[in-house]
Amino acid sequence: MNAFVIDAPAQASVAVLGGGRFPVRRIFCVGKNYAEHVKEMGGEARSDPPVFFTKPADAVVESGAVIAYPQATENLHYEGELAVALKGAGRNLKDRAAAGALIFGNAAACDLTRRDLQSTAKKAGAPWDAAKGFDRSAPIGPIARIEDVPPEAFDDARLVTRINDEVRQDAALSDMIWPVPEIIMALSGLFELRPGDLIFTGTPAGVGALSPGDDVRVDIGPLPSLAFSIGERQ
Ligand code: MN
Repeated sequence: MNAFVIDAPAQASVAVLGGGRFPVRRIFCVGKNYAEHVKEMGGEARSDPPVFFTKPADAVVESGAVIAYPQATENLHYEGELAVALKGAGRNLKDRAAAGALIFGNAAACDLTRRDLQSTAKKAGAPWDAAKGFDRSAPIGPIARIEDVPPEAFDDARLVTRINDEVRQDAALSDMIWPVPEIIMALSGLFELRPGDLIFTGTPAGVGALSPGDDVRVDIGPLPSLAFSIGERQ
């Protein structure tokens, strides 16, 4: 008998445009993927392998939510990002076609960040988990299947983040230092990617602080919008 000794956690999942739900296995995130954002953070744009970090699967929050201002920070930041959802498995992928074949679909997302904790971690050379992987740190809009919104639809797409209807981030997805297939190839050299994995692909310039009562909206080309609000402090 191998019954669980406590209640098993619920499977984290995200709505899919047109119906159904995408079960989330892991959330990988890319740091430093737009040169102008690297500059605003005081770093140097480089062509090294991309920087990866993770968030727990159950950090996802759906569009329309009110997210309480998180504990342990005085500097919560938004980072509008394209999220990629994977339906296939792969390891050590060496070409763009093989990487692209893993993609189920795409969504507008936000990498919520406790910037004060991140700054402290950077100075100490410490891990970013507390700055990036906290509860409800991964709001994400409905996932559009690639059959419905194919990769070509992103060729001229812009990522636009609005706070209280004011544009704060507006950048071409083509400004990514590491385009999506190359991110997947690089990640697959570190991890065996599996169905259910999500990848947040990095944020452009214009990140900033959020306060209780703020409305956040992320639009990326033809994808469904992500919209959420920041609630009172926890
Ligand atoms: Mn980010």
